[in-house]
Amino acid sequence: MNKVESIKAYPFLLNGEWKSSTSERTIEMQSPSGAGIPGKVQAMTESEVNTALTGAKDAQKEWGRKSFDERARLLYSWADQLLLMKDEIAETIMKEVGKGLASAEKEVIRTADFIKYTAEEGKRLHGELINGGSFNSGSANKFALVNRNPVGVVLAISPFNYPVNLAAAKIAPALIAGNAVVFKPATQGAISGTRMIEALDKAGLPSGLVNLVTGKGSEIGDYLITHPLVDLINFTGGSDTGKSISEKASMVPVILELGGKDPAIVLEDADLDKAASDIVSGGFSYSGQRCTAIKRVLVIDNKADKLVENIKEKMESLKVGAPEDNADVTPLINRKATDFVTGLIEDAIEKGARVVSGNHREGNLIYPTLLDCVTKNMAIAWEEPFGPVIPVIRVESVDEAIDIANESQYGLQASIFTKNMEQAIRIGNELEVGSVQINGKTERGPDHFPFLGVKSSGVGVQGIRKSIESMTREKVTVLNMSQG
Ligand code: NAP
Repeated sequence: MNKVESIKAYPFLLNGEWKSSTSERTIEMQSPSGAGIPGKVQAMTESEVNTALTGAKDAQKEWGRKSFDERARLLYSWADQLLLMKDEIAETIMKEVGKGLASAEKEVIRTADFIKYTAEEGKRLHGELINGGSFNSGSANKFALVNRNPVGVVLAISPFNYPVNLAAAKIAPALIAGNAVVFKPATQGAISGTRMIEALDKAGLPSGLVNLVTGKGSEIGDYLITHPLVDLINFTGGSDTGKSISEKASMVPVILELGGKDPAIVLEDADLDKAASDIVSGGFSYSGQRCTAIKRVLVIDNKADKLVENIKEKMESLKVGAPEDNADVTPLINRKATDFVTGLIEDAIEKGARVVSGNHREGNLIYPTLLDCVTKNMAIAWEEPFGPVIPVIRVESVDEAIDIANESQYGLQASIFTKNMEQAIRIGNELEVGSVQINGKTERGPDHFPFLGVKSSGVGVQGIRKSIESMTREKVTVLNMSQG
């Protein structure tokens, strides 16, 4: 068998059947670590994408009439199937997106937990009854029954970095709410996404209820997002892609989870050892390829030397290398992403930043890099690197830290390290972000907490209950009772 024949081409799920595209074109994935080619996915045609959407529209009608209990049963079964396939899916994630094997396994387990919790939470979804008489005396005979109905067909578009978890975090809440889904995974991540849908199919997925669309966003993206059968777009990815989708979607509602530049603000009275530990794990796990990674440190100048020393010391215990060896810092997703991070580091050094640690590259692998004395004229102060580099910006006061934090176009999360809770809450209130972590690293989860970004970091709220609500539409039925 020659090399080309041995590469598996994964099919897509369309209205209950696993198929190859009539385009006869496939997209070959390159492993980030250079450990071979994990496989190929189909480049679907517009006609196939159209079939996916019409099939989903049809399937939703029956699904939307089912009880929450019946919908929950599919989700429980999906979670069980995922756990049965845990080892093979984790290995696929590892090979396809270069995530350490233990983290990839955790991603599958977390996803199964997410799906089960979603099934439970969905069963508790309820509407409300509003008494008309509480507004003015002339309305006393009116009652509004406010129910939550499915929106219809949800287009779920996911990024490469959590190819299973961030996909299921859209699909499961959409399904429990009574929607159908057309799921387009990131191209690099599409094999992991396909394996996850395989588990859902084994769980007894009704035909067409979730259709899988594979192909490059640059080729089929516009057709998908402007298709008239899409009722809501739930997207996670870069801010530029998200903004472009939002513009083109026009009146179709969007939920967007986008980029971040999360600061860790370290005050004079902070526990510097704890702050350093959280900065290292928050900034470098999965090589910084996390939306909520700590992407800059703002520290009061007179504590900066000690903090930088602590961070450097803790960075020495990071394991750098191959995902197969469970390294913390592994090769980045592709060469373009690696070149971008290298460019940011070079720009900072040219403008006077001090390399405390790292700044070494082997292929797509960048060693964890700590840059001190970063200033506002350096691109690294503002850009999201999505790689293993942390810039330290020294500030004179708390107000300067708040100003620099808020000057960013992003507003996902922020960490504040201090022993003074009152001060932490005051600063938190002034930060233009979706979530503030006091004395902890920025991170998503636990998954039932509300999760949102402001400014260029997103639109809408997720987190299990919020995700379910976000993918329903309120329907108001007014009862006009006869008086007397
Ligand atoms: P990306 O390049 O924006 O891609 C995200 C998804 O959009 C992929 O499925 C991609 O498909 C698709 N896409 C690209 N162009 C499209 C178009 N014109 N129309 C429709 N879909 C299109 O992002 P990424 O590199 O995968 O992920 C990294 C980014 O995601 C980072 O900025 C990170 O901060 C952000 N992120 C945010 C969160 C959050 O919760 N806020 C979580 C995780 C990641 P292709 O792969 O085929 O191009």
